[in-house]
Amino acid sequence: MPASDPPLTLRDLQAIPIGRLRGVGEKKSAALVAAEISSVLDLLTHYPRRHLDRTREASIGELRKGDEATVFGEVRSSSTRQLKGRRTLTNVVIGDGDNQLSLTFFNQRWREKQLTPGMTVLVHGKCEIYRGQRQMTGPIVDLVGNQTGRIVPVYPQSEKSGLLTRDVAAFVEEALARCRPRGFDDPVPEAVLKRFNLVDRATAIYGIHQPESMAQKDEARRRLVFDELLRVQLELVRRKRRIERATAGIVHETAGELTDRFIERLPFPLTNAQQRAISEIAGDLSLGRPMHRLLQGDVGSGKTLVAVHALLVAVQGGYQGALMAPTEVLAEQHHASVTAMLGDLSVPDPATLMGDRPLRVDVLTNRVGAADRRKILADLVQGKVDIVIGTHALIQDKVEYAALGVVVIDEQHRFGVEQRAALRDKGDVVTAPDVLVMTATPIPRTAAMTVYGDLDVSVLDELPPGRTPIVTEWARDDAAEDAVWDAVRAAAIEGRQAYVVCPLIDESEALDARSAEDTYAALQTAELNGLRLGLLHGRVTAADKDEVMGAFRRGELDVLVATTVIEVGVDVPNATVMVILDADRFGIAQLHQLRGRVGRGEHASRCYLVGDPTTSDGESRLEALVASTDGFELAEVDLELRGEGTIMGERQKGRNDLKLASLRRDKEWVATAREVAIEIIDVDDELARHPGLADELDLVLGDEDAEYLMKD
Ligand code: ADP
Ligand code: MG
Repeated sequence: MPASDPPLTLRDLQAIPIGRLRGVGEKKSAALVAAEISSVLDLLTHYPRRHLDRTREASIGELRKGDEATVFGEVRSSSTRQLKGRRTLTNVVIGDGDNQLSLTFFNQRWREKQLTPGMTVLVHGKCEIYRGQRQMTGPIVDLVGNQTGRIVPVYPQSEKSGLLTRDVAAFVEEALARCRPRGFDDPVPEAVLKRFNLVDRATAIYGIHQPESMAQKDEARRRLVFDELLRVQLELVRRKRRIERATAGIVHETAGELTDRFIERLPFPLTNAQQRAISEIAGDLSLGRPMHRLLQGDVGSGKTLVAVHALLVAVQGGYQGALMAPTEVLAEQHHASVTAMLGDLSVPDPATLMGDRPLRVDVLTNRVGAADRRKILADLVQGKVDIVIGTHALIQDKVEYAALGVVVIDEQHRFGVEQRAALRDKGDVVTAPDVLVMTATPIPRTAAMTVYGDLDVSVLDELPPGRTPIVTEWARDDAAEDAVWDAVRAAAIEGRQAYVVCPLIDESEALDARSAEDTYAALQTAELNGLRLGLLHGRVTAADKDEVMGAFRRGELDVLVATTVIEVGVDVPNATVMVILDADRFGIAQLHQLRGRVGRGEHASRCYLVGDPTTSDGESRLEALVASTDGFELAEVDLELRGEGTIMGERQKGRNDLKLASLRRDKEWVATAREVAIEIIDVDDELARHPGLADELDLVLGDEDAEYLMKD
């Protein structure tokens, strides 16, 4: 590679097969391919999984009993002994100077071949003293070879394929040496690097593989993380803008008599968060491109009101609004609360005698009789229905609208790409309706930027004033559990009601139902004997369900024993106690949702988490619930505990170029990358003036990956 050639791009690196490197024979080549390394780009982005700071490494002579340490040594001897049965014990002695450390491995005979006398190794483990000798049992071993740097990169190694960290280090060293004359191209504008104090790409690539100090390694990592996140965000923002350009939207009348009257007649002032969300949505609705916005807010934060406001914007401009819920029951509940919220609001209508006509809101579910259904469908086509509430059936072929203007979807996760396409087709020929998606399971802001990268996000991070916070207690032993049942009885005596959520079996609905029946029977005869109990689970018929829910709502039952079927939507303000059995088996989000069923009325509410966790994660979850009632805070904890895999999906993470970046560790950088991506796309929508970046996106984020990112 002559020095006069231009600096190497990622595409150039991709084009150099790994076999061109010296020392990569057939055997190593196969091992590399097995590790999905086939080009120099793959090799250079095969990042160290950690770095050992040799300046802080202990020497064997310093090791005391119980110390957990990393030590460097030379292999002196290795041998294997047959134990009883087919077990083997391999003993490897390493040393530095006069000091020795004995490493023992059970059933790892291959270690004998791996660790041959004279070889230098780094081992990490806990030092024990056995018969007066220092020893580590089953330590982590890194073959760093004769790597001399003070900071030693440790690569993911695979013993089976025979790809060792020192091999990778040697290949990387050679690759870097051969790249040096041409250097690395840096497609990120210099002003951006300067603004965020980021090193250039060459410094980053050398710095991650061959750092001179831990600080240099950190600097390198920062830059490479930024690049990964920037690419993802550029792709998301670019695609979002493409859709916006390609689809025309309705220019709504966001200021009008109907919305004014609605706000005036509310018995309470809007929260600041509601005001902000309403104006963000109005901003979108007034533009000639369809809105795709996510409204995140905790249970009780007042999302429904914000959604209704958006629907009324459509209505006051002569369009229709649709509100879709994930289940029929929820659709009916929405219908009840929306009609209550709207009261006898009327629509200005100059065509009528009074200049007004009543606002018409209908519900369309399977429970609506055939005749009514036909009528509603006919009236929708003629524009006589202003707002329709239902399930996803609302966007099926059979349902036609006179002029669908705004669609609100409650609960994000059941709504995918196909449904969005169906919705676009519900608009008139040239325009698509605006879409607002509501979700009560908040995910951290930065994760939302990646997972819902094509949606704008509004957040209701404030509860309406005057709520008495729910006090949460963790009942860990029998005595504490007895106190819980005392509290349930005390509440019943005061005329309040309680929920008891049964242990989650999770294997089948039938088992969950059984568990609920058993719990119900046990409580009935013992702890809650004398109280009026009801039972609800997935196997109860719809009619019985209505019956039980109705009785509970009317206060004819003191306690509702249920499975997680009550997770969403149930709203009984007089219920003030929530008991969750085997609470450690539920996830944070689910516990938070369940807890949200109480605290809906004037009386102070309590939530009892009954459980003796068997894992530390289980403990952390319950501790988090006790410590916080803020859904966003809990979402952060959840992300912390479970990792981004749960949000991104392992498959997605593996495929979308986030090799170093973590949505958890690198939160601020997600936001920064999004900000920069928007700035760049705002002035250069197809990246024509940033050909280097455009090429990288094409290279790294194939179409398939990008499609995947866009899915919700
Ligand atoms: P979410 O849908 O976010 O769970 P809701 O919209 O159901 O919340 O609102 C919960 C309750 O709070 C409802 O009874 C609603 O009338 C009431 N509410 C909404 N906004 C306010 C507000 N700004 N001030 C007082 N109460 C409010
Ligand atoms: Mg609600």
